[in-house]
Amino acid sequence: MIPVTKTFLPPQEEFQELISRIWKNQWLTNNGELYKEFRKKLQSFLNVDFVIPTTNGTLPLQIALNAFGNCGEVITTPFSYVATTSSIVWEKCTPVFVDIHKDYLTIDETKIEAAITPKTTAILATHVYGNACNLEVLEKIAKKHSLKLIYDAAHCFGVTYKGNSIFNYGDVSTCSFHATKLFHSGEGGALFCKNKEIEKELWFRHNFGHNGPEKFHGLGINAKMSELQAAMGLSVLPYVNFIIEERKKVCDFYDVSLNFNVLRRQKIREGLKWNYAYYPIIFKNESTLIEVKQKMEENNIFARRYFFPSLEKLPYIKTSLCPIAEHISTSVLCLPVYVGLQENDLVQITSIINSCLNNYGA
Ligand SMILES: *Cc1c(COP(=O)(O)O)cnc(C)c1O
Repeated sequence: MIPVTKTFLPPQEEFQELISRIWKNQWLTNNGELYKEFRKKLQSFLNVDFVIPTTNGTLPLQIALNAFGNCGEVITTPFSYVATTSSIVWEKCTPVFVDIHKDYLTIDETKIEAAITPKTTAILATHVYGNACNLEVLEKIAKKHSLKLIYDAAHCFGVTYKGNSIFNYGDVSTCSFHATKLFHSGEGGALFCKNKEIEKELWFRHNFGHNGPEKFHGLGINAKMSELQAAMGLSVLPYVNFIIEERKKVCDFYDVSLNFNVLRRQKIREGLKWNYAYYPIIFKNESTLIEVKQKMEENNIFARRYFFPSLEKLPYIKTSLCPIAEHISTSVLCLPVYVGLQENDLVQITSIINSCLNNYGA
């Protein structure tokens, strides 16, 4: 069986060595030794100013929206994972969908200003499959209209833009360290920001609002990362460059083997050092996608429709029209990418896809 992704697991001894420190310290969570070490290593590996590791990649979105959304309208993309939209709704803000760019697949910055109203408080945009939004233009729009800029950078571990970590953009960026992501701590995630004041606000919120054992700064939730998660994160971190290189090999193989006369790929933004987090291919229409996916499944190969459906189709959203996102979400398929995917598997995957495309005329 070839799944769409396979979690990278470090050598077990290396994980166990870290775990034994938990027994030695008799400390399981709440800013423990492994957590602190993980936080510091992340900061230097990623070259970011402020990072707060969290228990997953969704709570950081909710915390950022809680800090900045102010129950107003939040301009966002329909082409993302459900957590981007559900977090807005969960924080009692109103999502306002702006359609995406057909090549970059990120929010279409030229359509944002038309969606701004006096109630708009923030922009929450996703760097799709690790590809950056138009960072410069989004920043300009946010500044001009005094909006907070939040990036869902769940896919972006290791991505840089013009040599700078992508997590350094926006007022707050978030990441996911879920087991299906490029870098993981089992479950996990992080908040990133550029100044001490914002970091303080985020830190309080991720720890119940505690300011010492008996004092509270304000409203908070529990988004703390445990020592067990930090141990997993610490044991995977030394392998990140290897993981990215191995994924690159897979993506390179697809690049030269698939029939791009009939398929197309997402356009990667200039200046971006991408991390090969996903390999989405875009078909001309949904029916071809379904045929190909089915054929692959008959051969025990499991690609994933991601992101599907377009988020403005969620049952708790009042419909707004985003024709490009809708079209892309019905015609995009993410192919298997993971460390250990063999060349003969890749040959099989690409030949199934190409022969389907020939048969159905795409
Ligand atoms: C995975 C993902 C999330 C959620 O992260 P979790 O760690 O699973 O909570 C949010 N946004 C995007 C775009 C994601 O891919």
